[in-house]
Amino acid sequence: MFDFKGKVVLITGASYGLGEQFAYAFAEAGADLILTARSEELLAQVAQRCESHGGKALVIAGDVSVESDVERVIGGGLEAFGRIDVLINNAGIADARGVAAEQFDAEMFNRILAVDLVGAFYFARGCGKHMLERGAGSIVNICSILASGGNENNVIGYTAAKGGLLNMTYQLGVEWADRGVRVNSVSPGFIVTEMTRPMLEAMGIDRWIASRTPMRRVGEAQEVTNAVMFLASDLASYITGVDLLVDGGTNASNGTFQIPPIHHEWNTQTPMVPTSYTPVQPRPDWYQALEKGVPGVHYPLPEADGPAEQD
Ligand code: NAD
Repeated sequence: MFDFKGKVVLITGASYGLGEQFAYAFAEAGADLILTARSEELLAQVAQRCESHGGKALVIAGDVSVESDVERVIGGGLEAFGRIDVLINNAGIADARGVAAEQFDAEMFNRILAVDLVGAFYFARGCGKHMLERGAGSIVNICSILASGGNENNVIGYTAAKGGLLNMTYQLGVEWADRGVRVNSVSPGFIVTEMTRPMLEAMGIDRWIASRTPMRRVGEAQEVTNAVMFLASDLASYITGVDLLVDGGTNASNGTFQIPPIHHEWNTQTPMVPTSYTPVQPRPDWYQALEKGVPGVHYPLPEADGPAEQD
């Protein structure tokens, strides 16, 4: 669907997870790649698979939270290819411990900010400078649904970092809009990767996530990749400062239920949700009493002098 022939795409966090999938997709679409993450060994394996599509894939290992590493990665990429057309700011860490905000340690909070927010800033600043000189470029920041709201997972550091990254997307989108550089973000819902696998699969939280997602499932890496490639491509030439949610409707919802609402029982002929939906929690005591509906609305009110007729 996408054509990136002749384009140079820099992807951070490309050694595994979503970044690895982005690398394969851009390689398949004809791009030359600059791949970075901390492990040179893992990156080399990804690069080898990318090059089987015919393009070049340059590996430069580094830590996104170290300013000099970022300068080295961008400098090395420019030396090899002479240009960077697209930056995918993907590297990120989360904290699956579920520590409550009032107990959260400063060390972890600062570390998450250093990688997810400050690292993304270093890359956007470095690549942005070069793109502005050329008057062309596209940056896609990988945010999260947690950039625009909290949830019960207790991830204060991650929420703060991703919220910052989302606002940075707006600021850069505006600041560079009239100089040919577009800056957008993609905010995935929950996707099974190395980051989330222990939580989603091993702990069975995927079912819980599905129950609070209007589409009733977690997402696929390919579904995020499609959105990233669209925003990175010239098809999105009039789009900047936009956050594209890939979340099965989560962000549009003001809360989806774990217990089917009683009106689904009253409207069984015209169900509002697929009948396959399994409630996560048992129905409460009062549920049965109202199953047949509201007296006087769904069945006649009881006669004053006789027993109620219900149909
Ligand atoms: P992952 O843990 O599977 O992969 C993260 C990648 O970032 C790896 O390549 C890792 O080596 C790299 N990385 C981590 N710290 C780094 C550092 N200091 N320097 C350089 N590279 C570093 O995670 P993922 O699920 O693929 O997440 C990718 C991005 O998507 C992250 O920004 C994450 O916050 C975001 N995201 C993921 C989900 C999800 O459900 N998986 C949802 C929303 C947003």
